[in-house]
Amino acid sequence: MIIDLRSDTVTVPTPGMREAMHHAVVGDDVYKEDETVNLLENRLAAMFGKKRALFFPSGTMANQAAIKLHTRPGEALICDKYGHVHNYEGGGIAFNSGVTTTLVDGHQGMFSAAQAEAAIHPPDFYHSPKTSLITAENTTNKGGGSCWDVDELRAIRAVCDKHHLGYHLDGARLWNALVATGDNPLTFGNIFDTISVCLSKGLGCPVGSVLVGDDAIMEDAIRVRKVLGGGMRQIGILAAAGLYALDHHIERLAEDHQKAKDIEAVLNSCSYVKKIVPVQTNIVIFKVNSDVNANDLVNQLANNNIRISGMGHGKLRIVTHLDYTDQKHDIVLRALKTIQPK
Ligand SMILES: *Cc1c(COP(=O)(O)O)cnc(C)c1O
Repeated sequence: MIIDLRSDTVTVPTPGMREAMHHAVVGDDVYKEDETVNLLENRLAAMFGKKRALFFPSGTMANQAAIKLHTRPGEALICDKYGHVHNYEGGGIAFNSGVTTTLVDGHQGMFSAAQAEAAIHPPDFYHSPKTSLITAENTTNKGGGSCWDVDELRAIRAVCDKHHLGYHLDGARLWNALVATGDNPLTFGNIFDTISVCLSKGLGCPVGSVLVGDDAIMEDAIRVRKVLGGGMRQIGILAAAGLYALDHHIERLAEDHQKAKDIEAVLNSCSYVKKIVPVQTNIVIFKVNSDVNANDLVNQLANNNIRISGMGHGKLRIVTHLDYTDQKHDIVLRALKTIQPK
């Protein structure tokens, strides 16, 4: 048995989810005639209090489409230095939108309204790219699954309003944040112009992200999706998995969070660990002592059939998820206690 903790994307659809997919009513979604997709989109739009939602094959495409909708070539967007849109979307911001990034030196992937405002290029200074968008990420992936304080996000909204900027949330793991903080999705819909949410991370679907937003900004979303190659046909099969996940896999995220906290507690007592990013959700990022080889730790766990990710610079990442059972959890906690990485 392999215990894979590299990411929460490694889950496979549950029998119940497969059953829902099997019975899905489908149509051609490029014509917007797939009833199941339309149902999922309407449900998510309503959940966030937005007018429209659109299904995408990946979180990357949903974010990239949002960036395209908010910007013009030559402009700049502001995000944290850890931002997924900047670090892990293959340079798509430049490739798809001809946009540059102004990075904020935040804390655990989060920044303050003052930092955001200071990163805006003065609009009359034509030597610099014109700032047109701020993107935040919740929870923060590279920031260790941290959850934003909603008041800070609101303060950044005020900065966007003052400077006429778009405001996008990469909510790939927003479900985790909602469960961990008890915040309401409507609050986020109220703050942001656009939000992308992922169905294949915490929620266990095989595929899918959804972008929500109001009429004006979403007007062109279906065209941008088409241009990016994301117009798909009888995908009610995928949307059915999404609907099933919304019903069955949100509240249980609390179990993933508890397991991540258990791992944090064990790591705290391990002599090879130097520092752990405080665990709030399902991601554990920790750093080993400078005399410990992080690769050796990864390899020793691999020899115990446990997979985790190295992030470079002595940092490692463990992500808990739907397929990480109690039985696997016991094995992992024991292995972390007993290994002695060199
Ligand atoms: C995984 C992830 C994405 C992209 O999702 P894909 O479906 O893998 O393209 C976007 N943002 C964050 C924060 C992520 O963790």
